[in-house]
Parts: sequence; C-alpha cells; structure tokens
Amino acid sequence: MPGFELFGDAERKEVNDVLENGVLMRYGFDGMRNGHWKAKELESELQNTFQSNHVQLVSSGTAAVSVALASAGVGAGDEVIMPTFTFVASFEAIMMLGAIPVLVDIDDTLTLNPKAVEAAITSKTKAVMVVQMCGSMGDMNALQNVCNKNNLLLVEDACQAIGGTYNGKPLGSIGDLGCFSFDFVKTITCGEGGAVITNNKDYYINADHYSDHGHDHVGNDRGAETHPFLGYNFRISELHAAVGLAQVKRLPEFLDIQKNNYIVIREALSVIPEVTFRTVPEVGEESYAFLNFFLPDLETARKTSEAFKKNGVDACFHYYDNNWHYIRKWNHLKDMKSLFPISAEVKKGLEYLQTKEYPQSDHYIARNISCLIKLSWTKEEVIARANKMVEIINDICKK
Ligand SMILES: *Cc1c(COP(=O)(O)O)cnc(C)c1O
Repeated sequence: MPGFELFGDAERKEVNDVLENGVLMRYGFDGMRNGHWKAKELESELQNTFQSNHVQLVSSGTAAVSVALASAGVGAGDEVIMPTFTFVASFEAIMMLGAIPVLVDIDDTLTLNPKAVEAAITSKTKAVMVVQMCGSMGDMNALQNVCNKNNLLLVEDACQAIGGTYNGKPLGSIGDLGCFSFDFVKTITCGEGGAVITNNKDYYINADHYSDHGHDHVGNDRGAETHPFLGYNFRISELHAAVGLAQVKRLPEFLDIQKNNYIVIREALSVIPEVTFRTVPEVGEESYAFLNFFLPDLETARKTSEAFKKNGVDACFHYYDNNWHYIRKWNHLKDMKSLFPISAEVKKGLEYLQTKEYPQSDHYIARNISCLIKLSWTKEEVIARANKMVEIINDICKK
C-alpha cells in the first residue's frame, strides 16, 4: 500500500515549486506564489479520481472524519454507529465532536454488518460510518438501504481503500460524505493529510469554512473575510499538498503494481484447503492494498502470525492481538482515559463498552491474517514470499 515506497523526482519537483516561492500556506499570498496552488490543484485532481463534485483537503484522515461529521451537523450527544474493527481514529474523530461512538459487529467482509447496524439504531443515532478496511468494502447497497429507511447519514471512511470501487464507483464517493487519509503509510501520501469528498454543496461549503477557522474564503483579503460560523484549524500545508499532487498522478501505476503482487500471493494461498478469503461484494473491486485471509481457528492464526515473523514474512498482521485496530485491546477507550473531563452524556453513552462482547467480530478477527501488499517488491520477491507463506501455513496445518 504505501506510496512512500516509490517517492522520487516527481514528488521532489512539486515540493521544489513551493520552496522556490516560499508560500507554504494554501490560502492567500496570491502575488508571491508564482501561480502555484498545490492544494487547489490536488483537490481538482481528487475530484476526478474520486468522481466527486467537491473535495476539501484537510490535515489528516482523522481530521477528515471529524470535519465530515461536523459539516453534516453531527455533534454533542449524537450517536454514530461504527465497526469494532477499524483504526482508533474512528472513535477519536467522533468523540472530538462530543458525539458517542456506538461500536457494532463486523461480518466476513471485515466491515460493518448491516444487520448489526440496524439493531443498534436508537432515537439518538445520526450517522453510520462504514470503514472500508484493508482495501475492501462493506455491502454498500444494504447499508444505504438501512440509512435511507432510518433517515441517517452514511459516512465512508475509505482511508485504507484508495482506488477500490463498488458498482464502478470509487469507494468514498458512495455515502453522503467520504473520508481519505494521505498519511505516510497510505496508498498515496502527502506525509500528513486527508480529504473530505461529497456531492452535497452545503456539506462542502461547511467543510471548507470549518477546517479554516470558519473563514468564508470570499475575495482575496484574508483579513477582511467574515466568519459565518465557528471553525477550527484543520488546514493542509502547500508542502504536504505538493507531495500528494505528485503521488495522485501515479495512483494508476501504484494500483497496477498492488494488483499484480496481490494476485501472485492469493493464487499461491488458494491451493491450501484450510485458507479462505474475506468476502468482497460481487459488484466490488478491492484496491488490493492488503490480502486478507482466514485460518480455521485462533490457535492456527496465532501460530501462523508468529511463524511469518520468525521467517521474515513481514507486514502481515493478526489484528486480534494488535492494539490499534480491534476493540479487544482498546482499554483506553473502555476506561475513558481522557486528559480532560468527558461530558456526562458521552460517559453514559460509552458505559456499554464495559460489558459488551462481540463474539461475531471475534469469530472473524481471531482467524484473520492481513498482509500488506507493498509496491517496492520485485517479481522474484513476491514469488519467494508467496512460496514461503504456503510452506509455513501447510506446515502448521499438518501438525
Ligand atoms: C489511517 C486511517 C485513518 C486516519 O488517518 P490519519 O491521516 O493517520 O489521521 C482513519 N481511518 C482509517 C481506517 C485509517 O486507516
């Protein structure tokens, strides 16, 4: 997945354009910037890439989720349904707004189970956030139906699925709002950065103002701009946007490499009877950023993960035992370890996490291994890696 693996002359050229005129900020300073508007240019490239009417760049993927929710009016006391398997950013972004994350089970897509979503809806629910984890997606038709029926916002966190599609549409462009991260390890990187995409003009204008102190961005005198409402600072810098601008132009090349490497490993693993793969919706195409497979049980998955590490098969994750991506180890959330007081509403709203169990999520995550697909591997390295993985898994399953 990581675009940083192929960092090169194109990225350096874009950054140098910015360094030469010294305008590191995305807004204003029109006279000094020599015609360079990297953030604006990147937004327009991303409109094409994600086939979306509006794109607002921000400082991170986490900021993108907060800005997306805020732009659609989600805030204090509102419940946002999200999956048990995701990056910690998901609940952080919700809690930043004083809203309440309601965690529900995933299914064999490794994303939200639409039935679990439906069962979790209350009178306080405002939005459903599907996280398109590890390069693939949820059953978007079913999720859209649930949201339409209950008048809920559908937000897509597509941070890990840049380039994947559903029914021919780019992931991120299907819900009311889509969120992307361009942090250092994502398919395309800005170093740090993120984006909110939407076809809703009001949400876009809100995102544009909210991410820059509420500035209305009318005219070309920043000091004279008015503030129609309160905002914060989630701006991206021109330097970061410049890196992203070079990277987005290389996205088709990155996706091609990912797909080729993925296919070699998947075909090799397919011959092992004990291995099954995550479900990808029939109308979906993965971004091929990860290959996810299931083993028969927790013990086999643990042994496989350990043997991979011992034998140099790096970048494969057993999320059941990992602190970042699965609810099992999120004790800081369950115990509400906040530096500052949390509102009574959110405290009460999170009480359920003390006792709630997620056997269905455990059933999938305990048996899942998720392997990052790198861009820098040579053909020989991919084949050698695939063969080694097969050998290790066969060995463990025979014992
Ligand atoms: C990376 C990531 C984020 C957060 O992105 P940052 O840019 O690191 O803040 C959010 N959600 C998911 C699923 C991610 O993988």
